[in-house]
Amino acid sequence: MSARVPHLTAKLQGFGTTIFAEMSALAVATGSVNLGQGFPDSDGPREVLDAAIDAINGGLNQYPPGPGMPVLRQAISAHQQRFYGIEYDPDSEVLVTAGATEALAGTLLALLDTGDEVVVLEPMFDSYAPCIAMAGAVAKPVTIRPPHYAIDPVELRRAITPKTKLILFNSPHNPTGRVFTREEVQLVADLAIEHDLLVVTDEVYEHLVFDGLEHIALSSLPGMRERTVVISSGGKTFNTTGWKIGWVCGPAEVVAAIRTAKQFLTYVNGGPFQPAIALGLGLPDSFYDHLAADLQAKRDRLMPGLLEAGFTVFPTQSTYFVTVDIRPLQPDGDGMAFCRALPHRVGVVAIPTEVMYVNKHEGRHLVRFAFCKQLSVLDDAVERLQQLG
Ligand code: PMP
Ligand code: GLN
Repeated sequence: MSARVPHLTAKLQGFGTTIFAEMSALAVATGSVNLGQGFPDSDGPREVLDAAIDAINGGLNQYPPGPGMPVLRQAISAHQQRFYGIEYDPDSEVLVTAGATEALAGTLLALLDTGDEVVVLEPMFDSYAPCIAMAGAVAKPVTIRPPHYAIDPVELRRAITPKTKLILFNSPHNPTGRVFTREEVQLVADLAIEHDLLVVTDEVYEHLVFDGLEHIALSSLPGMRERTVVISSGGKTFNTTGWKIGWVCGPAEVVAAIRTAKQFLTYVNGGPFQPAIALGLGLPDSFYDHLAADLQAKRDRLMPGLLEAGFTVFPTQSTYFVTVDIRPLQPDGDGMAFCRALPHRVGVVAIPTEVMYVNKHEGRHLVRFAFCKQLSVLDDAVERLQQLG
């Protein structure tokens, strides 16, 4: 347990500074190749960038409407229809947020009461546990383990209690790169229906899926549209992680509840970026295909290099990330110490996935590398990592 932080509420003791901030700062300080925080090092589609510039030049610089600009809400609705065959009313069932991060915070703060339990897979994205804690609720982690990071149906079922309010389900999954199978997604749906639970899905990597696999949207399974809150974001799809345009889609009553919490967090955000993301969401299939193929090629460049460097490398089917077991190179398996030393040893930054676990021992020896970088950067990183042996 980390030292007590003065002034910080008891709810947030132990959460400290996010690992992404710590590691990105370390990358800058040491001049390292940053394969830590997941952000691409090249720009997305020119027309999306130009649309934002045009919006600024056209005077779209004041508060957008609370729920988001109509043009974006309509584009989000059309996107859900186009990719998953689900209709959402742009006025009552779609809400624009400050990235998926605010969508998650707003959703959890809106839906959870003190003492409620949230069933969530671990490892989990780093904002989940603190947001659940800020809501006064309790995270009930279900660990998925390498090499396949499959969901154990018995463990998932066992995590549900009478206090369970919702399941928080991230697919495609950060940091493992799992795209959960139809059977796994159906299992989550079956349990939600059986126990009358809501499911919050985090689908920010929905378009970054490799090897011809399909992202199964849980909301598209029978009986699930009415009990699913879909969260996604434009950051990963359009290489605009700094724009922080995200969204929520769901049944009108649930979206109304989330809107209530959201309006007191940021109220609104990213005015000129909203029409730009709307334009992006309407880009042709060729754009989406190319996006996934490009990242797949990057994955295929980094993975053999990590193997050669001596790590045990686990398969990844999506996202920006690949996870490794460091024990062949560091027998004590201390991933945190390994990642803190790595920039100084060979000039590479990675993320100790331990920080994404409630049960820290489960992830102590695992480390995440991001491959959303130019091939030359990945080659440079691999060359540096070869010196570890
Ligand atoms: N969920 C997951 C699983 C993520 O990896 C991230 C980080 N991009 C987010 C949510 C936050 O997304 P955004 O940058 O749109 O806030
Ligand atoms: N989603 C990115 C990651 O997992 C960055 C998140 C962040 O910086 N908050 O690396």
